[in-house]
Amino acid sequence: MVIIMKPGTEETVISKVINKVEELGFKPHPIYGVINTVVAVIGDRTQEAMDTLQSMPGVDRVVPILRPYKLAGREVQPESTVVRVGEQVEIGGRVVVIIAGPCAVESREQYLATGRYVKAAGAHILRGSLYKPRTSPHDFQGLHEAGIELLQAAREELGMPIITEVLDPRHIELLEPVTDVFQIGARNMQNFALLVEVGRTNKPVLVKRGMSATVDDLLKAAEYVLVGGNNNVVLCERGIRTFETQTRNTLDISAVPVIKRFSHLPVIVDPSHASGEAWLVPALSKAALAAGADGLMIETHPSPQNALVDGPQSLRPDEFRQLLDDLRPFAEAAGRTL
Ligand code: PEP
Ligand code: MN
Repeated sequence: MVIIMKPGTEETVISKVINKVEELGFKPHPIYGVINTVVAVIGDRTQEAMDTLQSMPGVDRVVPILRPYKLAGREVQPESTVVRVGEQVEIGGRVVVIIAGPCAVESREQYLATGRYVKAAGAHILRGSLYKPRTSPHDFQGLHEAGIELLQAAREELGMPIITEVLDPRHIELLEPVTDVFQIGARNMQNFALLVEVGRTNKPVLVKRGMSATVDDLLKAAEYVLVGGNNNVVLCERGIRTFETQTRNTLDISAVPVIKRFSHLPVIVDPSHASGEAWLVPALSKAALAAGADGLMIETHPSPQNALVDGPQSLRPDEFRQLLDDLRPFAEAAGRTL
């Protein structure tokens, strides 16, 4: 259930309601909005508990949440969430946020060179993973701990926020000092132990949709992070498995407006993993902006033919620059800037 407080209710009155929620054996989750505060209440509701809370000072109304995702849903928070990354970037605001970089961090030269040209082209966040969830154990798995200093070097030299993937709860402590966003990959969308652990931090978390996950599954995965008290969750549509074989995955473009209708969380699109081919990335990026995406995650590499991971879907530096230029009028047509 969710307790909607009357507009302008004092902090001390809200605290009493929160204490009562705990006393009744529930977990309170206050969300301080611009107009009013709501307290989401996690646990199996009873009519008696609802009546008790309803009668408290400052409470406007108590409503049951019918959808399976409570904290991620618009029922509990009608206003869209804006997730702040670092000092300057906001995901879910007017600016369409561009996350770009290689699939994997391969070397100092490759990573810093990529960081420089994506920044110059107008990207906001630099991607690059040290831990790669590869389908085959024989493929390049990433630089692991040896690459941490490269994330640090890029962050210092470029002053850009960094996003990197965590595959295992043990990576969180290691990566927390050098990353601005934790990425939960498609293959780990239902790694509940990992979701719980990133939910205990206050770093933004990008949750990528599993390749066989429904939108409902994705929202429930986000719920795991939110329940831990971390409200900085961004969702990512990256294509799902269908019977179509022309593309690596099928971009489920309707997921963007569907998620926006039911959830207040920002949604970005990853056209690179959705298509698996660099030539398809511009068309899918434009479609994503038209559908209302809050950002794009694009793979690019200084020399895609030599990339250790995901070369065929990575844009060359000139292609990346051109794409951002081409996207500007599309962003404007969608009422955004880039
Ligand atoms: C990635 O972003 O490099 C990645 C592995 O993506 P996904 O988890 O969506 O497959
Ligand atoms: Mn990749």
